[in-house]
Amino acid sequence: MSSTVLEFENHVQPRSERQVTYFCRLCRGYGIKTRKSHLQNFHNANRDTVTKRSNNDLVDVIFIESK
Ligand SMILES: [Zn+2]
Repeated sequence: MSSTVLEFENHVQPRSERQVTYFCRLCRGYGIKTRKSHLQNFHNANRDTVTKRSNNDLVDVIFIESK
C-alpha cells in the first residue's frame, strides 16, 4: 500500500520540463527534489511516518516550493 503513495507522489510532481525544487525549513537547504527522501536521509524521519498520507500536511509545512 505504501508503494501506491510513493508512486502517486512521484507522478504528480513535475511535468518534465519544469523541475520543481524545494527549500527545507529544517536545515535551510535548497534544491531539494524529493521531499520525503530528504526527510529520511537528512532528518532521520521514519519511512512509515513520511509515507503516511496524513503527514502530507507536515511535509507541505516543512518545504517551500522554489522555482
Ligand atoms: Zn532538511
